[in-house]
Amino acid sequence: MLHFKILTIFPKYFASPFMDGLLKQAIENGVLRIDVQDIREFTRDKHRTVDDTPYGGGAGMVMKPEPIVFAIKQAVADAKASTVIVFSPKGKKFDQAAARRLSRHKQFVLVCGRYEGIDERVPAFYADEELSIGDYVLSGGEAAALVFIESVARLVPGFVGNDESLVRESYENGLLEYPQYTKPRTFEGHEVPPVLLSGNHRAIEQWRSEQSLKLTAERRPDLLGAAKK
Ligand code: SAM
Repeated sequence: MLHFKILTIFPKYFASPFMDGLLKQAIENGVLRIDVQDIREFTRDKHRTVDDTPYGGGAGMVMKPEPIVFAIKQAVADAKASTVIVFSPKGKKFDQAAARRLSRHKQFVLVCGRYEGIDERVPAFYADEELSIGDYVLSGGEAAALVFIESVARLVPGFVGNDESLVRESYENGLLEYPQYTKPRTFEGHEVPPVLLSGNHRAIEQWRSEQSLKLTAERRPDLLGAAKK
């Protein structure tokens, strides 16, 4: 079973994302388990303080190390072995290759920051990886945790009904996926490309490969150098 424990100061954020689709199905089938832990429960002062002003001055507040580290230690102890991920725009970029590498792990503790981020000693000494989901700044790590869970979970065998559908997905061979069409054949005058109706599997494969290359060249030329043949 794949297990994610999410550490957050906003546990209600996760009230609905796991109640639909493949994630819900995987939880019901016992393939996936998700626990949400309120970091505030690990504070030891009466105000349940999770943040404080930055040393050296500057705007905003920084998340204190103590409650987060106590929550990480408890989660790791409960799970025996766990991979601890801290989300941060300063982290290494999380991409499909990282998702595939990490999908071999079974237990994760996902740490969501807020405010100006987390005291640097947490990622430095208590995390296995510090990851960024992209070159932009979110208000919190909760959305990043969802992105992480969705992308890692779908790589676990059996999570997606038809594992074959993963093989041709965008990024899996270093290219974007070819365009997909379904019925109706004509929609408001827009036709499905005739080759897809030809029944000629070789021609369809060739068209898909060409489209995949064309789309990648147009939209993500940076991927082309690394693409596998
Ligand atoms: N002051 C920080 C900086 O400039 O690097 C930004 C902190 S951000 C407002 C608050 C939290 O959102 C972070 O601690 C992190 O958990 C999360 N976050 C924001 N952008 C992210 C990204 N691109 N990837 C992963 N987590 C992100």
